[in-house]
Amino acid sequence: MSPYFSLTIAFACSLLLLVIERTQAEKGRPWITPNLLTDACVGLIRLVIVSGLLSGFVLSTQWLIHSEIPFLQTGLIDGQPAWLQFIAYFVAVDLTFYVFHRVMHSTKPLWVFHAVHHSARRFNPMTNHRSHPLEEVLYLMSRAIPPAILGGSPPVIIAFLVIDHFWSILVHCDLKVNLGPLKYVFVTPQYHRIHHSIELQHFDKNFAGRLIIWDYLFGTMHSNFHEYPEIGIDGYPVVEESASPMKAMGYAIGHFLYPFRALWAHFAKPAKGHDFVRDEVKPPTEQLFALHANRS
Ligand SMILES: [Zn+2]
Ligand SMILES: [Zn+2]
Repeated sequence: MSPYFSLTIAFACSLLLLVIERTQAEKGRPWITPNLLTDACVGLIRLVIVSGLLSGFVLSTQWLIHSEIPFLQTGLIDGQPAWLQFIAYFVAVDLTFYVFHRVMHSTKPLWVFHAVHHSARRFNPMTNHRSHPLEEVLYLMSRAIPPAILGGSPPVIIAFLVIDHFWSILVHCDLKVNLGPLKYVFVTPQYHRIHHSIELQHFDKNFAGRLIIWDYLFGTMHSNFHEYPEIGIDGYPVVEESASPMKAMGYAIGHFLYPFRALWAHFAKPAKGHDFVRDEVKPPTEQLFALHANRS
């Protein structure tokens, strides 16, 4: 499955959700905001320039499983009904995502890449595209490895990808929506908003991407489903203030460069006291440790 194909589906889902979100929004909200334009530009960089390089990496991982690690290619769901294959992909991809997501929050060199996604100050149907191309490798792998191991049929994989992209984009919309009783099973826009919150009590909560059971099982669930906090990262250096397409592309390039500058400053020049990963941009886990240390 080509990453280009996957990301093109994601853009199409965003456009559909943009129409839905804006028809639900309060009167007077503009269709194009600085955040939305920058997020679309970050997505374009990811799609057009860098994903091409990453395609080979993801496809070679699938090839590796097929030809070099055949015992991993279980074919467990080959010949099973389509609905069963779909559920198997859903659960396997989601658990893989949960693990990758937690690793990104607890490892500083990975967090600076994930911080690009968390830097959004307002959700919109393009926010899901605000992820660094190198972080995208992990997401593409989380969607590519389970089908390679489990087997199944391509039409079910494509159906899964379409619905999965739609859901990932939906939970990043600026919608105060909890989906009624579905909120006890699935991640909703309000549930995921807690994960992006700037409030300390929400740090390191609600990591799940699709099913909230992983947060419940691993103790990372924030059980109040009704909050609607501010989002973003205080101190993050790229701040979007203009809806001009040229400036939006400039901000997007700033996001692309941020993790490299942060890592360079942190690892190559620590003696000079440059720490581009400022306290506010440090991983939530590290901020919590620092806070407890200051209190004790
Ligand atoms: Zn996160
Ligand atoms: Zn998110």
